[in-house]
Amino acid sequence: MSHIETQAVHAGDRKKLGDYIPVTTPIFGATTFYYEKLGQLERVFAREVEGQGYTRYGNPTAAAFEEQVAALEGGDIAVSTASGMAALELALMIALTDRRRKVVAADVLFGQTYLLLQHVFEPAGVEARFVDPCNLAAFEALVAEEKPGCVLIEAVSNPLLRVPQVDRIAEIAHAHGALLIVDSTFTTPALLRPLELGADIVFHSATKYLAGHADVLGGVTVAREEHRELLTALVRTLGPNLGPFECYLAMRGVKTLPLRMRRQCDNARLVAEALGADKRVEHVHYPGLISHPDRETVRRIFVDGRAGAMVSFEIRDAGREEVFRYINALEMVLRTLSLGDVHSLVSYPTISSHRNLSPKHRARLGIGDNLLRLSVGIEAADDIIGDLLQALDAV
Ligand SMILES: *Cc1c(COP(=O)(O)O)cnc(C)c1O
Repeated sequence: MSHIETQAVHAGDRKKLGDYIPVTTPIFGATTFYYEKLGQLERVFAREVEGQGYTRYGNPTAAAFEEQVAALEGGDIAVSTASGMAALELALMIALTDRRRKVVAADVLFGQTYLLLQHVFEPAGVEARFVDPCNLAAFEALVAEEKPGCVLIEAVSNPLLRVPQVDRIAEIAHAHGALLIVDSTFTTPALLRPLELGADIVFHSATKYLAGHADVLGGVTVAREEHRELLTALVRTLGPNLGPFECYLAMRGVKTLPLRMRRQCDNARLVAEALGADKRVEHVHYPGLISHPDRETVRRIFVDGRAGAMVSFEIRDAGREEVFRYINALEMVLRTLSLGDVHSLVSYPTISSHRNLSPKHRARLGIGDNLLRLSVGIEAADDIIGDLLQALDAV
């Protein structure tokens, strides 16, 4: 089962139930599990035998989904959570236990990640400092100066799709006694295996590519054996668990993740090329294009050099009004939040993910009012491209 396509279909399933084995793991809605003799339950509590007692401590559907994701990531333990944000919180908590309560994080982060650090962790005594992870010299200098307990990066930044060198960053973090946490939501194990590149903890918003169908809110945190005890204990006491219904849907989604990802990456490359060839488009940001500053990193560390399924682009001479006209003229591509779904969707960072920044701050990050972000779906590439180009007539 070494190939991800095979693991995605088989890992986690086919646990024996009495005399028979369900081909796919059922939804175990039960919160409590019954044994014929109390001594059996006692042995489960004592962890002398594997078993279930109460769903916050473990649930067979959740266990199956967790085993599946751990296999794909090459991790020893995965825990499913009610959202990607809960997965991040767990990752930070295990990284900072017994380490300096300081974080060095990427300067461009998912909005709520930044807010979690600033508004939840800082008041609790965890200082956060920010730096560009694609500038290794600046990154190393700050880590050396701050000696943080952990370093936090995103595998691909939003919305300019910069790709830090995870392996080099892991080396820098470890040289200064820090753990590395990677938000791999944009990449998934179909494109990147951060643990194999030296990262210590990986987390996902499973809401995005892992589940992939815009019908599950969930997250997952993956780590190595050394973190098993702490991670398990935190889940038991904090209770961030993903419910069995959602675990079932997410697991079903992951079975087709490698297929979807391949198709979405192929579509994204075609979309990036088609947009780049149109004079009405000023610039296309796609890590697979020769014009992208991190294309070499992608070629070096991404699986098969596939560059992901997110594409950002700038419409020439467009402001807010023109962008609204463009987005409203789209007939198939959905104007909606989120990403990683089977359908293509467009978002406008100026009014959504980066809304709370001042125009000056956005400009400093390179996010102009003419920038749009696409999450490319599995539809026919011609239909996606046709829709994206026809809407340019409305600008
Ligand atoms: C969506 C997202 C999150 C948060 O995940 P939720 O499932 O919405 O809680 C974190 N990081 C990235 C990169 C995301 O896109």
